[in-house]
Formats: sequence, C-alpha cells, structure tokens
Amino acid sequence: MSRESNLDQLTNWLQARYHDQTEYLQATSEIARDVIDVFNANEAYKQYDVLRRLSVPERIIHFTVHWLNDDNQVEIHQGWRVQHSGLIGPYKGGLRFHPTVNESILKFLAFEQSFKNALTGLPIGGAKGGSDFNPRGRSETEIMRFCQAFMTELYRHIGPNTDVPAGDINVSGREIGFLYGQYRRILNQFGGTLTGKDISFGGSHVRTEATGFGLIYMLEAVLETHQTPLKNKVVGISGAGNVALHAALRATQLGARVVSLSNSRGALLNESGFSENSLTQAIETKDQHNNILKALSDDGHGDYQADASPWQLNMDIALPCATQNEIDEPAAQKLVDHNVRFLLEGANMPCTTRAHQVLAENKIVYVPGKASNAGGVAISGLEMSQNAAFRRDSYSDIDTTLKHIMRSIHQQCLQEGQRDGEINYAKGANIAGFRRLADAIVMQGL
Ligand code: NDP
Repeated sequence: MSRESNLDQLTNWLQARYHDQTEYLQATSEIARDVIDVFNANEAYKQYDVLRRLSVPERIIHFTVHWLNDDNQVEIHQGWRVQHSGLIGPYKGGLRFHPTVNESILKFLAFEQSFKNALTGLPIGGAKGGSDFNPRGRSETEIMRFCQAFMTELYRHIGPNTDVPAGDINVSGREIGFLYGQYRRILNQFGGTLTGKDISFGGSHVRTEATGFGLIYMLEAVLETHQTPLKNKVVGISGAGNVALHAALRATQLGARVVSLSNSRGALLNESGFSENSLTQAIETKDQHNNILKALSDDGHGDYQADASPWQLNMDIALPCATQNEIDEPAAQKLVDHNVRFLLEGANMPCTTRAHQVLAENKIVYVPGKASNAGGVAISGLEMSQNAAFRRDSYSDIDTTLKHIMRSIHQQCLQEGQRDGEINYAKGANIAGFRRLADAIVMQGL
C-alpha cells in the first residue's frame, strides 16, 4: 500500500470514530504524518498495526465528582483519567482542572504524553486526566473538598506501579497535597502514587522548576547547535504559571532579557527585561493573587495591558507556555513580523497546524513541546524512583540530571530529524518517541 493510502486510511478511520474530537485528531494526524515513512519501512510495525494501536488510548476512565461548596450546596463535575499507553512503564501524566477540559483535550494530551515520556528514556507510560472544575474564585476549603471528592473516585485506578498522576494547569503543589492526603487516608499507604508532592512528604527537589528550567536547558542546546549564545537574547513568554515563570527566571539568570509574560486576561510587557527579583517574587506569591501580572505591574515591574498579546515586541525567541492552540496563524505572523528566530514550546501543542506552516515557511526553528517541555515529567520519573527507594537526591544532582536528559532528547531529535544540514525537531522527536513505543508493541506481542 502507498505511503498516502496508509496515512489516509488511518486519518479516515480516526475521523469516522472521533470526528468531534478536534484536538485529538490534530495531535494524532500531526504525528502520523511525521512517522508514516518509518512505519511503512518496517514489516513488523505494519503486521502489529502499531500506528493505529498507538493512536487510541488503552483505557479511558470517566467519573462524576459530587462535592459540597461553602454554601452547603451540592456541586457536580466531570472527571477523567485517560491511560494512553502503559507499554514502557506505569501510566504517567498530569491532572488539569479547567472549565475547558473534555475528553478530546485529555486524549490529545495523553497521546502526546506517551511520546514525550518515551523521549525521556525513563520507564514511564503516558496518561492525562482532570476535571471541568474551575478553581478560580473558589475558597481554599472548596478546593480541598473538590480534590478529596475527585480522589475518592480516582484512587482505585491508580498506584505506584499502575498510574502515577502529577499536576498540570491549575493543579500545583497545593492541589497535589490535598489529592495525596486523600489517597493516603483511603489506602493507609505512604508511597509514590502522585508526583509533584511537597519536599517534606516525598517530593523531589527541582520538580516545581523542572518544566521551565528544562525548557531553557533545551533552548541552550538548540542555540549551541545554531552557534549563537543565549546571553543578551530577547525572549518573549506567554503564560504566568508554573512553566512560564520558571522559564523566565532561568533564562534571566543565564543572561537573556525576558520582555513579556501573559495570562488569559492580558500581557505584562517590559522592554528592559524582568529582574530576577521580580520573577522570584511572582513565583513565591502567585497563588495569593487573582492576577499576579497586574500585581507586578502595580509594583513597577512592567506595563500590564488587558487583552494584549505577549508577541507585540521585537524578540529573538518565543516560548509559548500557556495553553493549547494559543498561537494561531495571525499570532504566528506576528512572531515573524517581530523577528522571532526560535520558538520552543513550553505548553503542550500551543501552535495550530496553520501556525506551524507559517513558522516553517519563514524558517523559524521550532521545537515541539514533547521534546522541550519534557523536563517536568522527567523529574517526576526521578521522584518515583526516589520514592521507591525511600531516598532523596540533592538539588544539584537532580538539576544536573535534568540538563543531561534535555540534552539527550535534543540529541535524539537531531539523530532522527537532521537531513542535508536541515533540522526538523518535530519530526525528529516524533520518530524517536514512535520507535521506542512501536518496538515495545512488537516485543510484547498482541
Ligand atoms: P498554570 O496553571 O501554572 O499556568 C497556566 C498559565 O496559562 C496561567 O498564566 C493562565 O492564565 C494561562 N492560560 C491558561 N489558559 C489560557 C488561555 N486560554 N489564554 C491565555 N492564557 C492562558 O499551568 P502550567 O504552567 O503548569 O502549564 C502551562 C502549560 O504547560 C500547559 O499547556 C501544560 O499542559 C504545560 N505543561 C506543564 C507542565 C508542568 O510541569 N506544570 C509539564 C509539561 C507541560 P490565567 O491564570 O489567567 O488562567
């Protein structure tokens, strides 16, 4: 069968079943396009139908969460855990609490997670989960009660050797603490079933910083390959959460000038670059503010503009760190107009398919999230092994390991994605992740 017909067959098969799951179809078709030649060239991959099997999650758990708000009213939310692939280790991936959460978004995230986790070289499978619960505007007690009710449903599907959730949007140290407390209460077990825990009860050093720091370590490797230093580069960042702020901090510490941050309500701009102190303050106090960027602006650390874009200044490097599909075609064109030369994804799938085309047409070096934001899950993997061994490694050892892992992922991207002097990081990452998963399917049989 020809290259196109195998690709068409897969696309049509997925479309017919999941035609309303746009994010999931976008993610699966982007990877399929990149790996189809590798698939076609391998008889065992075809015999075991690995492409179709890797496209569909192994299991989807869908439950309802009932809980009491501060007014003693019952509230009802939906919860999911998508266990995409357990081929190379326990299912592993974050939980997201956001009103936009639905099955399509979690399926795309879990699918991407399996490829990302394969790139880390660690024994971790891929999963994602969450709820349409919106923590914004809720009291801390309501968030705690929601987390407890969510875990009361989820606990029977997870475990240190089965599935190990972590945080994602709106799920950070505080929520992981509440979720873990409930898990421990129900099972009377202290173990590594969740990662991103506080350091005082089994968390790992560097886990909170890992995704943002790892993104900057990947950026250093990419810039080295393109023979240009990070020092004095102008960097634009979207988002103002865990990933964005830690990326901004590490880039600033390494001599870059970070000129923008953003949230769903606007952007904070500062052409002279944020200071290390202001970024540290933002990291430490973000949970106490409804809008940390507005608070930074009020303290004289930049100009906060409601409904503004973080991509309106000239910059060398763009790091989208907010959410999926935040960079559409006009936003990509804006990046081109502002002289961006490198774009590395901190968020998962922040660029639309049309945005990718604009970036490629304008020769912007592009690194996909599954390679550039893998630092978080890599350190989660190390948290699991520390928990299993009742051990805690030092901050500097883990930071060094994080650098090694990001460089190893960079190397895999070059190995699979470099042809005739051109580097296609997306294709390289997709093929490297695909080979590890596909080989595991073949070796494990049907
Ligand atoms: P946080 O919840 O800490 O922060 C999310 C940030 O993005 C907030 O500033 C939020 O603004 C902003 N945001 C959310 N939705 C939108 C939107 N529609 N438009 C503009 N801004 C928006 O999340 P994280 O930093 O943890 O995650 C950010 C991204 O990184 C996600 O794509 C996540 O999947 C990915 N990621 C996270 C990892 C981690 O370790 N945390 C690991 C790998 C990937 P507001 O407060 O106004 O909502």
